[in-house]
Amino acid sequence: MNAARLKCIGRIGPAGALTAAGPPRSIRPSIIGSRVLIVHMLREQLHKLGLCEGGWLGVFGDVEAADCGEAALDDLIVELVAAVGRNGHILVPAFTGGAQFDREKTPAATGRFAERFRRWPGVVRSPHPTHSVAVLGPAAREIVRDHDVYLPFRPETPLGQLAAKDGKVLLLGGDHRANVLIHVGRLSVERDRPVEWINVETVLEFGGRRRRRYVAAPCDGSYAFLGEELEMAGLARQMDSPWGRMAYMSARRIVDWAAGVERNSPRRFLCGRADCRWCADLEKRLPPPPIS
Ligand SMILES: [Zn+2]
Repeated sequence: MNAARLKCIGRIGPAGALTAAGPPRSIRPSIIGSRVLIVHMLREQLHKLGLCEGGWLGVFGDVEAADCGEAALDDLIVELVAAVGRNGHILVPAFTGGAQFDREKTPAATGRFAERFRRWPGVVRSPHPTHSVAVLGPAAREIVRDHDVYLPFRPETPLGQLAAKDGKVLLLGGDHRANVLIHVGRLSVERDRPVEWINVETVLEFGGRRRRRYVAAPCDGSYAFLGEELEMAGLARQMDSPWGRMAYMSARRIVDWAAGVERNSPRRFLCGRADCRWCADLEKRLPPPPIS
């Protein structure tokens, strides 16, 4: 059976596939049969592409299929956890839209997969009020501990560590606007940039609330058109799965590529929209383009 032709699956997965964290107690494995093999094809596919047991995997974006229920999302999480094994780590952006942030309760605004993963047993969320990252794995607490509050994409932050550890990335849906490692690469290059602020009311320990402001991420409008280019350059590999399209890539190579573009031709990251203040402001700060 061709996995690419399958619609989003229902609840699948033998209990034997679960690792230390396991699914929420309310979820029980059900259908076991040929479709289990198709779900497990993802694990095998990832291993063939270079993901090792004990490795780091960033999962960005969201499942494409609109009819993917929570059970199907659980199957995907179980499969990814099995792919990295007990000693591996999974990192998922659990960004929020601002306004309010409670580390335990505020839902991820980065999609259904991210929100389901954030609530998975054993997952630890970093404390950043607008760009938190949900992490599963033995060193999760250490990975999220120093998430810089004002510079959420610096190399020492969870996403920066993903690249430093030679992690891999699975981009669900294949839209590179969710590929936040492009931010990490761009922002590793010293440059005068616009600063936009997001005001957030945060819930702190001991029940107190504080209103503070945090730097917004760069405009990601131009990233939507990068899929084909990254594929052609051998930096990303498109895959079909029962959960829809995915793209697989090396975190380090994406960061290096984005840093190179930012250094040599930063205008390529301008979105070109007349109403984008961030890109218009950046354009004014860039050195004049070289005369060809
Ligand atoms: Zn823009």
